[in-house]
Amino acid sequence: MDFKQHIASIPGFPKEGIIFRDVTPLLEDKDAFKACIDDLAAHAKDLGVDVVVGPESRGFIFGCPVALELECGFVPIRKPGKLPRETVSKKYDLEYGSNEIFMHKDSIKPGMKVLIVDDLLATGGTVEAVAALIEEMGGEVVGMEFVIELEELKATEKLSKYNIYSQVKY
Ligand code: 5GP
Repeated sequence: MDFKQHIASIPGFPKEGIIFRDVTPLLEDKDAFKACIDDLAAHAKDLGVDVVVGPESRGFIFGCPVALELECGFVPIRKPGKLPRETVSKKYDLEYGSNEIFMHKDSIKPGMKVLIVDDLLATGGTVEAVAALIEEMGGEVVGMEFVIELEELKATEKLSKYNIYSQVKY
């Protein structure tokens, strides 16, 4: 399936100079959404995934159904102040300022094989911080999957040690 035809490009959102890639048309189309999830799951089926990890919030939308198809659980990565139990966290730099992401401390056990799923790979800062959290907990990142990759930002160069699959490239 050509997933690109289900992604809208919005110039100037959320600010001037940015083209936002909007996945909501893909989600609204049951056949495209199903094909997208099936394809992500198919690319991970031989990785021996124990758990899928997805960052808030679009990582939840794609990560949860992939986890169900792979017959494993799902671990959410959240913004500050959202998780009720003991957490581990990682700060990372953005173009302007910084971000901090949180995960429940007991959700990744040593030796677990982890697949990270998110909607879009831009600079790679988010997924790099997610991977660092997983690895600090003793998990092994066996794959990273995205619906969209913005190739000109060259995230795959700094993430070269990881097994990365993106469905659509801009
Ligand atoms: P990175 O950390 O790789 O620079 O940015 C990736 C994160 O930003 C992802 O979690 C993604 O949801 C969000 N993001 C950045 N730009 C876009 C965009 O154009 N479209 C969508 N859907 N998400 C974006």
